[in-house]
Amino acid sequence: MQLIAFRKYFLILVLCFSFQNCGWLVDLAFPVEIDKFLGERFFKATIQGENDVKVYKNQELQKYVQSIADRILKSKSIRYKEEFSYKVTLLKDDDTINAVCAPGGYIFVYTGLLHFVKDEATLAGILAHEIAHAERRHSTKQLSTTITLYYALYWTLSYILGPDLAQHAADLAGLSTNLFSLANSRSAEEEADEFGFQYMRSTPYYPGAISGFFKDIQVWRKEKGKEEDLNNPIAKYLSTHPMDEERIEENERRLKDAKIPKPNPKSFFRERYESKISQYLGKKDE
Ligand SMILES: [Zn+2]
Repeated sequence: MQLIAFRKYFLILVLCFSFQNCGWLVDLAFPVEIDKFLGERFFKATIQGENDVKVYKNQELQKYVQSIADRILKSKSIRYKEEFSYKVTLLKDDDTINAVCAPGGYIFVYTGLLHFVKDEATLAGILAHEIAHAERRHSTKQLSTTITLYYALYWTLSYILGPDLAQHAADLAGLSTNLFSLANSRSAEEEADEFGFQYMRSTPYYPGAISGFFKDIQVWRKEKGKEEDLNNPIAKYLSTHPMDEERIEENERRLKDAKIPKPNPKSFFRERYESKISQYLGKKDE
């Protein structure tokens, strides 16, 4: 029995090193149940206040942001529509301009982002990018070593402690990563931009709207500077989503390649956005 446990452990250790930067292997070897498990755990911890964020309970606003996400989720390119939750949760923090989509489709949107963004199409572009992170399983791929070690620990301990205690020990030892601060790699960002753009094409929104957000960030950077200052509202976004001129240029290239015509101002839904935000969210906390 012990020999079998050791062999299993050894095999998993070998696998865990091979998983590093090997996305397709994760797609092949990790069932999506792992993403659902990881996301649900993280979601529960967040609503219980364990992740240093405050959930904003505002049903009308939540429904409105969810309706924007739902338009993106109608895209035929969304693979895990049935499996993942794709549920929007609002976070009350007017000083953080960010959105996160945890594995399994748990979407978190900070009120700071809702104040910063000027129209529905731009918010949709950001949500589509976040949904792409979950669809492409970026966090799961990044955490593959931790996940592998978690299961290795669980299986090994099951032989010694029995399944219940092993679960408890493995819970304590691993998977406590705060996904709100998990930085995406440059290649994951590019992929999320690419897939996000594809999802946006089936919506009523201008698919290149995220460019406006990128440009506003660049202006903010020049004017306010000091990204290392954590009180800078944009710092969190930039620490989790690497940004440079190239992403803006790539977005322009995508629009050109797909022969997307110049936007009609109506496809940004600015007036509706402004009215809903002022109605449901009000002014930014000073
Ligand atoms: Zn991203």
